[in-house]
Amino acid sequence: MILVYVDHDRGEIDPLALQVVSAARGLDDDVQAVIVGPNAEKCADELGSVGVRTVHHGTHSSISDYAPLASARAVLTVMERTDPRAVLAAGTPRGSEVLAHIAAIRDLPLVTECSEITLTGPDTAEVTRARWGGNLLERSKVTGAPLLATAQAHAFAVVDEPGTAQVEAFDVPVTDADVQVGIVDRTGAAATGVGLAEAKVVISGGRGMDGPEAFAMLEELADILGGAVGCSRVVTAAGWRPHAEQVGQTGTKVAPELYLAFGISGATQHIAGCKSAKTLIAVNTDGQAPIMSHADYAVVDNLHTLLPVLIEKARAAKGA
Ligand SMILES: Cc1cc2nc3c(=O)[nH]c(=O)nc-3n(C[C@H](O)[C@H](O)[C@H](O)COP(=O)(O)OP(=O)(O)OC[C@H]3O[C@@H](n4cnc5c(N)ncnc54)[C@H](O)[C@@H]3O)c2cc1C
Repeated sequence: MILVYVDHDRGEIDPLALQVVSAARGLDDDVQAVIVGPNAEKCADELGSVGVRTVHHGTHSSISDYAPLASARAVLTVMERTDPRAVLAAGTPRGSEVLAHIAAIRDLPLVTECSEITLTGPDTAEVTRARWGGNLLERSKVTGAPLLATAQAHAFAVVDEPGTAQVEAFDVPVTDADVQVGIVDRTGAAATGVGLAEAKVVISGGRGMDGPEAFAMLEELADILGGAVGCSRVVTAAGWRPHAEQVGQTGTKVAPELYLAFGISGATQHIAGCKSAKTLIAVNTDGQAPIMSHADYAVVDNLHTLLPVLIEKARAAKGA
């Protein structure tokens, strides 16, 4: 049996968790999930639609929202009961945090951001992970049971397996120390709109935007196309946009149908985050910028004059 830790935001399932379930189904037919906290039971229908038949729902009066150590306690409780062959989670900050706690408590190895997972024996596995910004594929042998691994975003396609998941509620054995880290507040636009990681269209800006003001044009275009705004690290380092919008090795890895890059040079660390895009269009004044060789369409132009025209055309085409 493979156990998947499924993260959710106030009952909204993390879409990447569905990819992890499909990765788990590739290892074993019996895939069970752990969800934690209030409203989590809302995730059960979606989990049932991708082949999960048992959902363990852990609650405690002191878990009111995401709480990493308490979530790890919940997964550990289910691990003790069910003795899974592997425990998987999405390679998101939350998934990695929860599995890291489990690894530390159980003194087990944890392999992160896997794009392939093979169980080779009762306590051995082989995994493939992208290293050095995706320039190197590392194949590792892991010893330890259960296998603890996180899955790289978009490395596994969601496979529909319609059915119903049975929800089994249980009390999480939580101490005060387990809930010392939790969410105290939510601010900013990142909490709303189309999520960057799962957006079908991502419109990103880099240093060439020349400041935070021009991002209003990217927001407008994203609004028309139903997409999300992203950016390069230069932009987040300058404080023009929040880190949640950073695309790349140390930001979010995206896999949209369309990635539009305005004023981004295409450093390897940025390409690591957008190379899974189906179509990449780059707009840059420098025809020799590295991103131009990665782009399906390379537009040599000044973004400040091109964007207003593009917005007008997109609006007309959409009838918006
Ligand atoms: C460990 C590490 C991790 C990193 N992680 C990330 C990461 O996750 N994501 C990331 O993005 N970077 C990351 N970086 C930084 C990365 O190396 C680059 O420095 C960064 O991506 C460059 O950002 P940029 O393309 O916006 O800026 P620049 O490299 O300065 O490029 C700006 C581009 O804009 C073009 N331009 C200028 N004016 C215009 C205009 N008017 N119209 C059109 N084009 C114009 C220029 O020709 C240029 O190509 C990381 C670096 C390190 C060392």
